[in-house]
Amino acid sequence: MEKTEFKAKFKKRLAEKFAMEVSDASANELYQTLGSIMTAAYSQDWQQTWQDYRDQEQKQAYYFSIEFLPGKMLKSNLLNMGWLETVEEALQEMGISLEDLAEVEPDMALGNGGLGRLASCFMDSIASCGLPGNGNGIRYEYGLFKQRFVDGYQVELPDEWLQKGNSWEIRKESKAVDVHFGGNVYLQKDGKDQLKPVYEGGYTVRAVPYDTGMVGYKNNIVNTMRLWSVEIPAEEEDRYRSIEDRRVIEDLTSVLYPDDSNQEGRKLRLSQEYFFVSAGVQSILRYYKRLGYSFDQINQYIAIHINDTHPAMCVAEFMRILIDEEDVSWEKAWNLTIKVMSYTNHTIMAEALEKWSIPMMQEVCPRIYQIIEEIDRRFVKDMTGVQPADLIERTRIIQNGQIHMANLAIIGSHSTNGVAKLHSDLLKSVVLNDFYVMYPTRFNNKTNGIAQRRWSQLANRSMTKVLNETIGTSWNSHPEDIRFLMNFAEDDKVLDALAEAKHENKVKLAAYIKKVKGIDVSPDAIFDVQIKRLHAYKRQLLNLLHIMKLYFDLKENPKLAIHPRVFIFGAKAAPSYHYAKSVIKVINEVANLINNDASIDNKLKVVFLANYNVTLAERIIPAADVSEQISLASKEASGTSNMKLMLNGAVTIATLDGANIEIRDAVGDENIAIFGLTETEVYRYYQEHNYNSSELYHNDPVLHKVLNAFVDGTIPNIAFEGQEIMDSLLKYNDEFFVLRDFAAYCDAQETINQNYQDRRRWKQISLKNIANAGRFSSDNTVKRYAEDIWQIEPVFAHNSEKGANQHGTYLL
Ligand SMILES: *Cc1c(COP(=O)(O)O)cnc(C)c1O
Repeated sequence: MEKTEFKAKFKKRLAEKFAMEVSDASANELYQTLGSIMTAAYSQDWQQTWQDYRDQEQKQAYYFSIEFLPGKMLKSNLLNMGWLETVEEALQEMGISLEDLAEVEPDMALGNGGLGRLASCFMDSIASCGLPGNGNGIRYEYGLFKQRFVDGYQVELPDEWLQKGNSWEIRKESKAVDVHFGGNVYLQKDGKDQLKPVYEGGYTVRAVPYDTGMVGYKNNIVNTMRLWSVEIPAEEEDRYRSIEDRRVIEDLTSVLYPDDSNQEGRKLRLSQEYFFVSAGVQSILRYYKRLGYSFDQINQYIAIHINDTHPAMCVAEFMRILIDEEDVSWEKAWNLTIKVMSYTNHTIMAEALEKWSIPMMQEVCPRIYQIIEEIDRRFVKDMTGVQPADLIERTRIIQNGQIHMANLAIIGSHSTNGVAKLHSDLLKSVVLNDFYVMYPTRFNNKTNGIAQRRWSQLANRSMTKVLNETIGTSWNSHPEDIRFLMNFAEDDKVLDALAEAKHENKVKLAAYIKKVKGIDVSPDAIFDVQIKRLHAYKRQLLNLLHIMKLYFDLKENPKLAIHPRVFIFGAKAAPSYHYAKSVIKVINEVANLINNDASIDNKLKVVFLANYNVTLAERIIPAADVSEQISLASKEASGTSNMKLMLNGAVTIATLDGANIEIRDAVGDENIAIFGLTETEVYRYYQEHNYNSSELYHNDPVLHKVLNAFVDGTIPNIAFEGQEIMDSLLKYNDEFFVLRDFAAYCDAQETINQNYQDRRRWKQISLKNIANAGRFSSDNTVKRYAEDIWQIEPVFAHNSEKGANQHGTYLL
């Protein structure tokens, strides 16, 4: 695509769409104009990709996830289309800054954190690897709440992300399906002597899909992320006259539950789950039927992935359609279901394992409940005599009046994977050991990954430039080629160039911090970053205790030889998570205390940036020197911000948890700061019940002093929250062993402090982190899913022989 051509097209489209010239248009109008040129350019490939999958009878995977967290799509689509530089320059020549247009786009936040972001990294990689795979989820009217701080407290505001429309989605009315809820169901013999369900009462809603193109990186492949929105079917308009009646329906796709580990608003949540499961499975089966094959072969054409347990009802819904509507026998349907379904477990925290009460599921989706009951009955019957009775009792789906969704997902699928080596091992040896005994071959590991291009080429253009100049550009499409950078670990020019790029990013972040917080931070300080959801197990509190320790050290000895440090936090707390909100308040008050204390001579700053989301992550990560990954060992299934930060040359300070272990294996012990209890030691404490946090408090004078600051007025304005945190640590015996890891953490931080001051060594460590990040590309991860779990194969760009699109870039 040529710049001149683009400029002419842009002006023409702006005139057609808004009857305007560039000089009159707002950033939003310009953004929409650009968006419409882009979607028009890839829509043909989108259609073609779909047709190719159908014509070539490609097996396709469907990734069911109750959350997607794509962030902004403008620049990422431009990059993948091969347009980024041309468009940026062409716009510039018209006096338009691409950055200003990117500002306008709302950050699409239909997810809470890691789980949803993983789903979106996968969408990018699946398309970029030319794999036939699509997303299936919910189009929430309101995304994750926007976070503000008022008086240091988190305040939640609604995220009205659709207010100005959405350039990337297409409403596909023709692909709508009906979803039935509630009422009574009983079985009756039909004309062919088959038991069929008869429904009484309940209500039906229409699920309308909104499709978003998932543009592959320079390969002319455009897959689909299909998000479902609820509507009242025209035939039912009369039933829903009042605003309240309509609201009950509309609520179904209104809000994302702002918590990925505890469930609330339970009935609505369950209804959301059934809604997108039923709509997705129905539309897949409708497509399959059009292909004209018998159901016997469906597993050769369709793979359905259950991302965490929220879509676990896929198992029962798939069964329902096969046996109730397609006259497939139970036994045959069950065999096919297992072959089609696969499941990813994302947590080992018992309180996050999803369960539903029988009455609630009967109320929301009675036929699904009946099917689950029958699956459970047959499971017990089939296992009796094969497995010990107590094992069967522990693994069956329905126990004590509750439906265990993980059990349903494992029993009803052929693959269960964890998301990092340690996590997958713990699933096998502890959390899901009973299932592992029964189905050893179903268990496997797929370490998470990140969309490498977004987190480097888009977020960190200064580093990308250095990399491209040093090792060429092959790493852009082959992430593992970033390894060539290892050849330059002794090259001072490269080391300096990377350090210069980092410095540039820090200058930018410092300006942003000044703008939004009014805090002066020096780009020469160490930027120490902890960004992730606020959760007790992630231990933001441990970070804070160390900050307090440094503060006291400096108060005592203002000449202390520490390199100046800026501690940067980004974290949302679930609105109902009281403790997490107290930690936010306390961090904000510590920030006030430290940032306004002139006596410490700017050696310490604490910055809590509000409203952590993908866009903020893209600002912070390129500027990070230190990556805080300090969860209690065994609690973080994988983590992915650890990978993003590593890729951007931050040095990790970490416990041996989740993918941190694999990061250590990749960079070597000398290029990461590991500390703290191991998973084995944590489990030993659990077994021996001999952890005693008060002892640590009483015996460690540093800890004593730091903790007292929470309740003795040293940290102002936290009378209540300080006490609450103190109680969690002492009265409730410190569930996440914060005090136990404190001393080791301080030592590791001191190593960081010293290494940073050895500038050359630090630059080398940083380079080695970047060079070894390739293995964490989600391109890699999805290829493993494709080969081992879904059995789908890459397609080659349909028009690669057509000349025009040979290089994977798009024509206007
Ligand atoms: C990557 C990412 C996460 C996940 O962070 P973890 O540290 O792995 O928990 C959460 N939120 C956003 C916005 C992200 O980009």
